[in-house]
Amino acid sequence: MTQLPIPADLPDVTLNENAKVVLSRRYLRKGPDGKPFELPKELFWRVASHIAAQEAAFKGGKARVAQRAREFYELMTSFKFLPNSPTLMNAGTDLGQLAACFVLPVGDSIEEIFDAVKHAALIHKSGGGTGFSFSRLRPAEARVGSTGGVASGPLSFLRIFNTATEQIKQGGTRRGANMGILRVDHPDIIRFIKAKEREGELNNFNLSVGLTEAFMKAVDADEEYALVAPHTGEEKARLKAREVFSMLVQKAWESGDPGMVFLDRINRDNPTPQLGEIEATNPCGEQPLLPYEACNLGSINLALFHDENARDGVDWEGLKTVVHQSVRFLDNVIEASVYPLPQITETVRTNRKIGLGVMGFADLLYQLGVPYNSQEGVNLAEKLMGFIQDESKLASKALAEERGAFPAYAGSVFAQKQQGPYRNATTTTIAPTGTLSILAGCSSGVEPLFALSFVRNVMDGDRLVEVNPHFEAALKMAQAYSPKLMEEVAKIGSIKAMDYLPEDIRRVFVTAMDIEPIWHLKMQAAFQKYTDNAVSKTVNLPNSATQEDIWDIYWKAYEYGCKGVTVYRDGCKTSQVLCTGEGQ
Ligand code: ADP
Repeated sequence: MTQLPIPADLPDVTLNENAKVVLSRRYLRKGPDGKPFELPKELFWRVASHIAAQEAAFKGGKARVAQRAREFYELMTSFKFLPNSPTLMNAGTDLGQLAACFVLPVGDSIEEIFDAVKHAALIHKSGGGTGFSFSRLRPAEARVGSTGGVASGPLSFLRIFNTATEQIKQGGTRRGANMGILRVDHPDIIRFIKAKEREGELNNFNLSVGLTEAFMKAVDADEEYALVAPHTGEEKARLKAREVFSMLVQKAWESGDPGMVFLDRINRDNPTPQLGEIEATNPCGEQPLLPYEACNLGSINLALFHDENARDGVDWEGLKTVVHQSVRFLDNVIEASVYPLPQITETVRTNRKIGLGVMGFADLLYQLGVPYNSQEGVNLAEKLMGFIQDESKLASKALAEERGAFPAYAGSVFAQKQQGPYRNATTTTIAPTGTLSILAGCSSGVEPLFALSFVRNVMDGDRLVEVNPHFEAALKMAQAYSPKLMEEVAKIGSIKAMDYLPEDIRRVFVTAMDIEPIWHLKMQAAFQKYTDNAVSKTVNLPNSATQEDIWDIYWKAYEYGCKGVTVYRDGCKTSQVLCTGEGQ
């Protein structure tokens, strides 16, 4: 293991209470007795020094290692940036697998299907999540050449993947997560859309229907479209596109599942089409990848870039520095990571994709006094992500000068457009940051807050009323704060109906359920515009939302250029795979 001794003058790390709990449950290394033998400071130094040590492989890099290790330590312990969970867990350990996202191919033979089950198990064991397209499998009841029998179809094989996942605990702390995708023109599509009807079915999978532009056009024109058997190319049936779309809408209304991904849109942004088509994403949908490709993610905490002295309230210089440091960090992670299969190592090293994103966006809006559900909020999202995207490309270009371009650059879309050379085929992705945001003590990803104040049950039956710090500060400034009010807010989470509170506070401090669905979608589209990969986002709907409302959201997501969409109607049953650390 490449690990420098801890410098005597290394500052300690200050953690909030929730971060302490999450760190000790999930991240600190544990001995055979299950007790952590690592301190938080040691964890962050383990990660920082191991990632910095990769510099030694590049010209003149050796002399920089110690300095970089300190820089990375400061970057993480200031909570301005955190790498994805597997990097925090495994950097500098024997396991050494550092990426969160993988996609595996599933071929149309028993050998290939069970290879994929095995490969997924290896990835889950190492802390990663897997996505698969089942579109190449012959449909149920199709003839099987070798035996003259009939095939079981994608759904029955999906259950095998699901059961295998159930049995593999990741380091004893969480089960694996999967994404299963089926193209809308696969003959088994109706079974797939209904697959999660019963609560608890396929509980280790998120499902998404892969929609094509041809299908969306057929919906628009109210036409039929063909279902095609993938193994023969034969047309098996014709369905009315609107009926299928409407069934998709109905299921999403009932349970939130399945979601959908726009395959053509994803492939228009495929930076290396010469290496093949993208057919699947990672479990939470934010990372489309080629078969056998993996990607490591990292997130910048925007809540820490508020600067009231700056003209528009944002510390752009500070943000720029952190983007450059983070891109270098994530590129080093590719060097440091040990992948569970040689094919994965090869694909990752060919494209060198990284996914830098953000968290704490809602917290930044609160500090700036800008409502999430406003054009001003959407404009700020575009400005921030546009800036991060541009700076990440400059950083990747600088790394290419120092270390060389990603090997597939010559045949990539960048070379055709005479852009680059870059070190990485993609640089940006917006992850859910389920656990990372708890560590950093900020709002998750680009989502609004769920509640401004809530009651946390702590040990010995004590209750603690937890209040968003920016909300508390604004109330105190307006002389409207009281512990009694916090108890009131904790009951419902939102202050929308509290007309005795100042109007400007009610306008700015909105929560997920206060925000009209269209603003959720506009925000997703704003971030997507400047993100290479995709955006993890849920469009929240009230319980009273109708199927027409969901139809409208799905259609607009397509028109706005989103790569996928996930809706959640308040109070409907759901068995979505959670990507948060707690509760798994
Ligand atoms: P983090 O726990 O690091 O905050 P995110 O919530 O941002 O992670 O999720 C990022 C990605 O990590 C997911 O899209 C998925 O690929 C992977 N992931 C999350 N949770 C799990 C899990 N329980 N098992 C496997 N992979 C997971």
